[in-house]
Amino acid sequence: MSRLVVISNRVALPKDVRAGGLASAMQSALAETGGLWFGWSGRLVDEGERTLQRLGDGRVDFALLDLTREEYARYYLGFSNRTLWPLLHFRPSLLDYSRDDFAGYRSVNRLFAEHVARLLQPGDRVWVHDYHLIPLGAELRALGVDAQIGFFLHIPLPPRELLAILPHHEHVFSALAAYDLVGVQTSADLDALTRYFQVEYGATIADGQAVHLPDGRRFRAAAFPIGIDTGRVARAAERAANGAATRRLVTSLEHRRLAIGVDRLDYSKGLPQRFEAFGRFLSRHEEWRAKVSLLQIAPPSRSDVPEYRELRSRLERIAGATNGRYAEPDWVPIRYVNRSFNQATLAGFYRAADVGLVTPLRDGMNLVAKEFVAAQPADDPGVLVLSSLAGAARELTQAVLINPHDPDDIVDALREALAMPLHDRRERWSAMMDHLRRHDITYWRNTFLDALADT
Ligand code: UDP
Repeated sequence: MSRLVVISNRVALPKDVRAGGLASAMQSALAETGGLWFGWSGRLVDEGERTLQRLGDGRVDFALLDLTREEYARYYLGFSNRTLWPLLHFRPSLLDYSRDDFAGYRSVNRLFAEHVARLLQPGDRVWVHDYHLIPLGAELRALGVDAQIGFFLHIPLPPRELLAILPHHEHVFSALAAYDLVGVQTSADLDALTRYFQVEYGATIADGQAVHLPDGRRFRAAAFPIGIDTGRVARAAERAANGAATRRLVTSLEHRRLAIGVDRLDYSKGLPQRFEAFGRFLSRHEEWRAKVSLLQIAPPSRSDVPEYRELRSRLERIAGATNGRYAEPDWVPIRYVNRSFNQATLAGFYRAADVGLVTPLRDGMNLVAKEFVAAQPADDPGVLVLSSLAGAARELTQAVLINPHDPDDIVDALREALAMPLHDRRERWSAMMDHLRRHDITYWRNTFLDALADT
């Protein structure tokens, strides 16, 4: 089988303790066929000091490229995270565009392409990941690379009217036509993509998937909803249930109920709305006061971006006010923890919880929702409360679905979840777990790579 070359902004090295499902799926795909994983090293250097670090055991290789501070500021913090991220998460009012950032984004994509092109061998298949690297395929083609190249977008794709807000959007999104296969998370993302190409470029769409441009370019687009390593999460949760971290958590609850949220500190995750709703729940349902806590794990991310710093202060204010208002000497409503945990520990926490609160304002998929379900005990599963605006809601239809913009919806869902009878919980959980077992991360990776091979 031909060698697989994976390219993403960050690379998960084998020793990475936080490596999630995606990392292990990529590692096992690379190990099966032999492969190379290329990405940013995470190091920032001065111009002239850039290195390309090579690691690996010969079968799976890693190639890690340094960036300069200027490149990081423009390509990563600027265009990727202050322009594309808000726009693709349906938040155009947060979009911050600058021509210099866009130039930086393009030049880092070109730089990646130049390095990757030198490492490619005849017969390689290339798989590019996510919004940081949309133009990479076109840059590789410009360098004469004729390998099969696939692209997967992990985050949502909004309708054409929003995409067209981006200045020079045609230079960004038309580059998708350079790939043989473009994968997105859901059929809604796929509709947005094909419609964009129809309206902007007069493309015709055959079989809902084959996009033909009038200039002769063609590519295939399809939805591949990403899965998790369901079996691994379930086993980890079972093991962690008796581990020290879960036991300490359970003991500290003193038989009270627990709702859990696990999200990067990101404005797409709907955290202020969730905290507000939890306060409203306690205000409206006095019978639940001192009977249930919300454990919110929220590791800070992208703290160099001002919107993320503002979000952090806002959450501290809401959590502080809610706790000040409702706490008892021996009970706090919101346990707000600004650090990350490894996935095995999280699995134990999910299993100890009665309710998983996953309420993003918009999310490509949301893996935490899937992990929460996979971590539940079959005999007494917890209930997932899930935003209908997360990609996961299209698969986990047996969750209690809510609109995260309506705090009363979250309040009602919380009440329903906490009171849900066992047979109802079991029925919903079995249906979701069955789906997650059949559509796990290996299924996702294989269906994408098979579709790429068929292009
Ligand atoms: N995660 C983790 N430790 C933490 C918080 C999150 O390992 O402290 C993992 C979590 O298990 C999940 C991923 O980070 O696999 C988050 O993925 P998701 O799709 O939910 O959100 P994203 O952060 O990609 O927007």
